Amino acid sequence: MTGKEEHDHKIKILNELVQLSHFLGNSSYQFTILGEGNSSAKIINKRESKTFLVKASGTCLATIKKEEFVYLELNTIMKLLSEENPSENTIQKIFKEALIDPDQTLRPSVETLLHAVCLDIDGVNFVGHTHPISVNILVCSKSFPENLKRRIYPDEIVVLGTESIFIPYVDPGVKLAQKIKNSLDDFIEKNLQPPKVLYLQNHGLIALGSSAEEVKNITLTANKAAWIRIGASGLGGIHPLTHKDVINLAYRPDEKYRQQFLLGRKMK
Ligand SMILES: [Zn+2]
Repeated sequence: MTGKEEHDHKIKILNELVQLSHFLGNSSYQFTILGEGNSSAKIINKRESKTFLVKASGTCLATIKKEEFVYLELNTIMKLLSEENPSENTIQKIFKEALIDPDQTLRPSVETLLHAVCLDIDGVNFVGHTHPISVNILVCSKSFPENLKRRIYPDEIVVLGTESIFIPYVDPGVKLAQKIKNSLDDFIEKNLQPPKVLYLQNHGLIALGSSAEEVKNITLTANKAAWIRIGASGLGGIHPLTHKDVINLAYRPDEKYRQQFLLGRKMK
């Protein structure tokens, strides 16, 4: 990749990330309000090292501008994973060390390590973290995580995969990211592929996408599936599909074909 190609690639990803953030922050969807939620995208540069853009702390998804994303070295941020209980000073020192533009004055989101952990996975190129009202009703209920387990209708399988990850409540920040890293490693070891969604108890949702389009589709589907589960809970209870139905649907060639469009890999 030449310097110009690298620059053009970064601008393309940044534009997609801004668009995705405005979508996730759009008040009509009720995924986030005020400064809630955060978004990020991976950029591979010519040294083949991983870098990423993450929302700056204190900014708002609905109105975020290009210059309100912080550009960071992924491996430097990952150093925080091995810190047992890092002080605010240590966190800020590592954030500063990871800055690609040392003149950047905005601080990256407090959830920066969480984004680095997710983007470090092959095939995960965009991450969207939101607090949808529908999902938060379920993750803040006593029936969590049972109310989000299994799959209840075909598109939930096509877009969200056959299984999700459930994270018990942990304070947002480094501790939450460390917990998520362990759960992701276990999930990938068992399923040989990363999950599409993580549900965080008393907190919200994380969507992992190969494209910005996929993060949108995952968040929309998780929101819809959550409303259906809330409705079904009051009408005799949620009726999940059987494991056999889920596996049949997940591997049907016509559904696999349709999935390519939802991943944003084929033109509609
Ligand atoms: Zn959050």
